[in-house]
Amino acid sequence: MPKASKKELLRLYKDHKVQLLISKFVSGELGTLNPTFDPKHGFRYPVIDEIVGDSSMTDEFLQELFEGGVLASKLYDKIIYCPSCSSANVSIHYTCPHCKSFDVKKSALIEHIKCGYIDTEDHFQKEGKLVCPKCNKELTNPDVDYHRAGVWCTCNQCAKSFDIPVPAHFCRNCKANFTFDEALYKDVYSYSLTPQAAKEANLGYILTVPIIEFLENLGFEVESPGFLNGSSGTRHMFDLTAVSTGAKKSTTAIDIATSSDDVVSEQSVISMFAKIFDATPDLACLVAIPKMSENGRKLAALYKINLVEAKDHNAAIEALKTCVKT
Ligand SMILES: [Zn+2]
Ligand SMILES: [Zn+2]
Ligand SMILES: [Zn+2]
Repeated sequence: MPKASKKELLRLYKDHKVQLLISKFVSGELGTLNPTFDPKHGFRYPVIDEIVGDSSMTDEFLQELFEGGVLASKLYDKIIYCPSCSSANVSIHYTCPHCKSFDVKKSALIEHIKCGYIDTEDHFQKEGKLVCPKCNKELTNPDVDYHRAGVWCTCNQCAKSFDIPVPAHFCRNCKANFTFDEALYKDVYSYSLTPQAAKEANLGYILTVPIIEFLENLGFEVESPGFLNGSSGTRHMFDLTAVSTGAKKSTTAIDIATSSDDVVSEQSVISMFAKIFDATPDLACLVAIPKMSENGRKLAALYKINLVEAKDHNAAIEALKTCVKT
């Protein structure tokens, strides 16, 4: 797996399309991203086509996420494209090594164990039974009377026989015949989230990325998750910590509380208070998406926690501007 820089990873996480794809993995809607085959275009990733909005960009998008360390890839299949028209609608022809014709008959070889006679199956066929043409005994028990001794091919054009045909290809689209030498032969991958991306997605980290960038642009040194030592000796974790880089270093602790219901419960205020009471950052901000409960608002005011209520992460950044001081 290529080792991407943290900066590159952050750039990807900020991309709305990347966030959309990651959310499909995290929600379980997508376990592994497998390609689907259609004879006209070869392998495709319809989920990605939909996210990217332009199927010609899909391969590039996946490659970027792979190189960026967001996606891991696994060889899923190999695909043959016609060298003349690039179609994936290609069939295989097993051809005669003598005259190159694909008009080849494939038969099974049968060996009569008792007398040692070997011939193709059709020579043993007699009125729906298998009968040895040499000794005229009927063969009834596979592996006791007889066994199959491989395949035998006969060319209907030059009448020669051989055991190994030569594979060749036929393009059903432009009707070209071509060999493996000439074929475009490519890897096809399935994709999943890398363990690192999965972990960061589960931590909600990917959604905090736009906030990290905003704070960094203001000149803060940002850690996410950020840790502050409390006077009790306990190390407290916040979703973000931001330290101003001026003469007087002031520390802001930020937690993000989201709710799929209408309101975020006051529990997030209480647990943040427990941490800041011990760790004493200069400023504490609690971002509540979409909004805080009435009780939570009262508690935040009481505990001197700056409450930022926003309907989404973009609105949260706007609201944070009034809260954080450089
Ligand atoms: Zn073709
Ligand atoms: Zn032949
Ligand atoms: Zn026999």
